[in-house]
Parts: sequence; structure tokens; C-alpha cells
Amino acid sequence: MSDGKVKEKQEEKLEFQAEVAKVLNLVIHSLYSNKEIFLRELISNASDACDKLRYLALTTPGLLDEGTDFKIDISTNKKERSITVADNGIGMNREELIENLGTIARSGTTAFLDSLSGDEQKDAALIGQFGVGFYSCFSVAEKVEVITRKAGDEKAWAWTSDGVGAFSISETERENQGATVTVYLKKEDKEFIEETRIQNIVKTYSDHISIPIMLAGKEKASQINAGSALWTRQRKDITEEQYKEFYHHVGHVFDDPWLTLHNRAEGKIEYTNLLFIPSSPPFDLMNPERKHRVKLYVKRIFITDDCEDLMPSYLRFVRGIVDSEDLPLNVSREMLQHNVVVTRIKSALVKRVFRELKKKAEKKPEEYDIFWQNFGAVLKEGLYEDHSSHDKLLELVRFRSTAGTDDQLVSLAEYVERMKDGQEEIFYITGDSPETLRASPQLEGFQARGAEVLLLTDPIDEFWLPAVAAYQEKRFTSVTASGIDLSKIKKETKEGDKGAEKNDVDNWDDAAVAKLILAFKESLGEAVKDVRASDRLTESAVCLVAAEGDMDLHLQRMLKMQGHMDIPATARVLEFNPGHSLIKKLTDSVDKAAKKQDIADAALVLFDQARIVEGEAIDDPASFSQRLNWLMEKGLAG
Ligand code: ADP
Repeated sequence: MSDGKVKEKQEEKLEFQAEVAKVLNLVIHSLYSNKEIFLRELISNASDACDKLRYLALTTPGLLDEGTDFKIDISTNKKERSITVADNGIGMNREELIENLGTIARSGTTAFLDSLSGDEQKDAALIGQFGVGFYSCFSVAEKVEVITRKAGDEKAWAWTSDGVGAFSISETERENQGATVTVYLKKEDKEFIEETRIQNIVKTYSDHISIPIMLAGKEKASQINAGSALWTRQRKDITEEQYKEFYHHVGHVFDDPWLTLHNRAEGKIEYTNLLFIPSSPPFDLMNPERKHRVKLYVKRIFITDDCEDLMPSYLRFVRGIVDSEDLPLNVSREMLQHNVVVTRIKSALVKRVFRELKKKAEKKPEEYDIFWQNFGAVLKEGLYEDHSSHDKLLELVRFRSTAGTDDQLVSLAEYVERMKDGQEEIFYITGDSPETLRASPQLEGFQARGAEVLLLTDPIDEFWLPAVAAYQEKRFTSVTASGIDLSKIKKETKEGDKGAEKNDVDNWDDAAVAKLILAFKESLGEAVKDVRASDRLTESAVCLVAAEGDMDLHLQRMLKMQGHMDIPATARVLEFNPGHSLIKKLTDSVDKAAKKQDIADAALVLFDQARIVEGEAIDDPASFSQRLNWLMEKGLAG
């Protein structure tokens, strides 16, 4: 213990939250490689604590003694086999101590822990991405002690734990505000008290920390980091490793940055940005309450990591910092809302991110595809949130399509380039997985004509499509919507593609088809909005489509699944394929009075079939199978 003596006050023993106990268990038993990161984590926390206090002191007079220099002190004790990291930052009160070092507040933690496989090596890699922060010191510690006093408080607190199940808290003393973390090392980890080892770790992981890191030597302490904010240095003077370490620090993540954007903007507004796009998606990407957004600094002073207006939510995967020259230092968080400077910075940053993404997409399409798999679904949110960026975003979106395999992504430019003669729209189908979409009967007519259909499987697709309407004046059109006129696109009659030829409008027996439509309508009644003959089918006998102006089939199902039970069950349009041999048999017998009942039954069975193909439940499965058996029996009887 470097600072403060423990008064003989009552010690209180508290249990770790179940999630923390799980994480600690993993840390103790699985994190054997890269143990040195515990020091990086402690330094990172100390630096954050100083940043927080520096900001708070700007608006709270008297909180900080005049002339206070922030610093992080590292010292070791050979006899105790301990290493201590002390800061003069914001510190913690008793409640914060229990909250911060006894629970994991991040939402999604339980789900993340449940997703671990039980395979120690794999789990260790995952837990690295999750970021265990302070708890990582238990990979090397027998015991950890934290002595802390919150800025502005009189009381100080001691927290101790061996990382197994529980921790204790008692009142103590500390000369000034801050936190002192002492790690009592396990025998096998005694290397971490060696001076050169510590120096190397700090150089590797923490050189970018802008607060001086001092290492206590025999006579005096010496500074072991460069101590200037990384983003203030010239790009050419920063190594890739240094960027990476800064990214880890600022983003609380541990993968490599996929893209690094370090720029200084001069002119109407002046700022520096050092932004990163991760190479793997964070576990809580889809959680809108996720912490650690882009951090805002003003003239090198940390202001907040919670400035909502700095980055749009559809770029929430971007990490890093923005350092503004134009905002006042004592800017309050309230002042940041709807702030003109912040809004300008935001729009400039969005443009810059778009520009860089486009560059990557053009120059390194394979790398861009990886980005797209990770963050495409999030970026697409911009298509309905940010009207002004439609055009830029439409250049960046990628899709699976019927023209390629699931690994091949196409851009809208490529799609338009490949459009068929007579094709005026961009066709798409939405659903849960590419496999089921590829098997949809509604695609048949498009494939017979070689017309490409985009396969959209992200839930968000249902929402941006109505908002965007068109790309280069080509309207987005769902193949499950009715009223698509395929007749202008010529069929490709390939060898073995007989279906396409068979279902040709010119070959239909129009009078019989009209009668069959009537017979179907009579049988199906309210269950359908309409019955139509269609040339979109080649192999299947029937399919369902949404009526003009109605909600798309997939969207209806999706909303229902999400519990929107109030979505009215809109009746759909049943389309049949007059070229199909079964339908032909029905049209042939449509005038025979004796077949009237069979046709009525067939209509009901075919309708239920179409629903099953859509992945829907049918209303009355018992009647369905009865009718089916009945028709089969008749069929077998000839
Ligand atoms: P993270 O830093 O990712 O939030 P940690 O587990 O490392 O997670 O720390 C949890 C919290 O404990 C921090 O967010 C901070 O509020 C608090 N904390 C940790 N170290 C310190 C410190 N040296 N001074 C003040 N607060 C600290």
C-alpha cells in the first residue's frame, strides 16, 4: 500500500455480481497469454480518471487544488511482490467502488457470457474482445487492493479482493483525491516488478497516454511515456502499432483497426479527428445504449464520451476522438446539444467517413466486403435516418443477389449495369435467409428472364426501402408485390429451361383462365384480396403476393414476430401459373359441372400450399390434410 493507512474500521464483505464472478473465473483460468495487458488497463483507467477530473474541475471551482499536475505513478515492492499504479484523478466514493468494481454495467454482458463455448482457448480470445478492463489484473494477482478518494469527498475507501467470489470494503485515509491500485503478484508472475519489463510494457501499450507516467526508481521517479496526445503528432511520426494501441485505449476493444482516419481540419472550423473503424463487430453493436462513442476533446482536454451529436447512430461502430479548437473549454454537456460547431463537425466527419469507405470499396473490394459483413446492416440505417446522405450511401451499399453466390456482394452500380433490355426497376426480395429466398416461387419468372433479384436479409431492409424509393431513377420493386409487368423483359430460353416457355401469356387460354379465376375467388372468398394469372411463375403452380399499396409479406411476418399483434392480417393476392400442368388440368375442366367441387377444393389446397412456402402457418391444418387426401385419392383413382 503506497498511500493511506487503513484505520481499524469495520470491514464489509460483499459478493461480486454473478457476471463478474464468471468473468473473473475466466480471467484467472484462461487468460494466460498476454498477461501484461493488466498494466495497460490500469494505466488506461488512471488516465480516464484524470481526464474526467480535469473536465469536472473546469466547471466546479475549488474541486482541484491550484497548480495540480495530473500524473500516474508506478512503483514496485520486491518484498511484497507487488506493483502499484496510483493516479490523482477523479477517484471513487463507496457506492461507485461497489458499482464499478463489483458489477459489469454494460448491457448485453449476460448474453455475451452465455455465448461462450466453455473451450478455454476460444473463450480467452473472445474475452479479449469483450474487454475485461480492471478485472484483468486477476490474471496475475493473488490479491488486489484499491485505495481511493473521490474528488470533493473527505472519506477514502479501501477495496480488496482475491478475485474469488467476494470483495471487502472498509473506510480508510488517502492524502488527496485519486485511486491507488496495488496488485500482489502470484509467484509465477513476479516478472512484472522488474523495471525494464514495466518500461517495455508502457512503451508498447501506453506511450500515447497524454498524462505523464512516472516510474519510481532507486533515487527518483522518471517519466517513461512520451506524454503528448497522440493525435497532436504528425501522421508520419506515428507507427501503426501506436495507432493500434491508441485505438485499444480509446475504444475499449482489442481487435485491429480496419481503417484509421487521422486528419486535421483547418478553415471555418478547426478540429483534429483520429477515428477508427474496427475489424470485427463489437458484441453490443445492436444495442443503442452502448457506451464508448467517439470522445470529444476541446484543445486537448477531454470533455465527454457521450456526445450524441458528434456521430450519427448509423456510424456508431466508429471509435476514436475529435479535438475541437472552436468550442469553449467550459462547455457543458447541455451546451453540446444542437450546438452549431458540433453539427458542423459531424457533417464533415460523416462526409470524410463516406469518402474513405468509397475509396476502400473501389481500391480494395475484398476488404470492403469484410467491412460490409460487419457493419453493413448498421450503415443501412442511414438510408432512412439521414435523407441528405441517400445518394452517398447508395454508392456504398452491397447486396447478395441471384446473379452470384452468397459470398459475392454486388453494388447497385453493378446491378444497373447488368439490367436487362426492357427492365426499368431494381428487383429485390426480402426474407430471413438467402437460402429460403433463393427458393421462392416469386423469383421464377425473373430468373427465366435472366433478371437479377437482390436478396435482402437484414430486418432493416424493410424500413429503408420505402424511404429510398429509387437509385439512379430506377425504382426499387419487391418481387412479392403485385402488378409487376414482366412482359417487357425478354425471356432467355436456355436449354432445359422449359418452364419459361410453357408459361407464356401468348399461350394462355384466356377464357378458361378467366373462369378459373372466378372459381378460385368463389372458393377462397375473403381469404384473398384477388386471384390472378401470372407470368412470374415457371415451376410452381401458385404463389402469394402483396396487393398494391399493402405491406410486404416479409415485413408483415417480421412485425408479427416482434409482437406487433395489432398488424391487421391483410389478405394477399393469389397468383397462379396457367402454364403449370396442374393448373392446365383445372382450366380444362372448369366448364364441367361434375368438377366444380374438386376445383373449389384445389383452390383451398393450393392457397394453403402457397402459405406454407412463404413459411406461414395455415389456419386449419386438419381441413387442409383432409382435402389433400381426398384429392389424392381421386387422382389415384384416375
Ligand atoms: P472500463 O474502464 O472499460 O469502464 P473497468 O472494469 O476497467 O472498465 O473499470 C470500471 C470502472 O471503474 C471505470 O469505468 C471507472 O468508472 C472505474 N475506475 C476504474 N479505475 C479507476 C480509477 N483509477 N479511478 C477512478 N475510477 C476508476
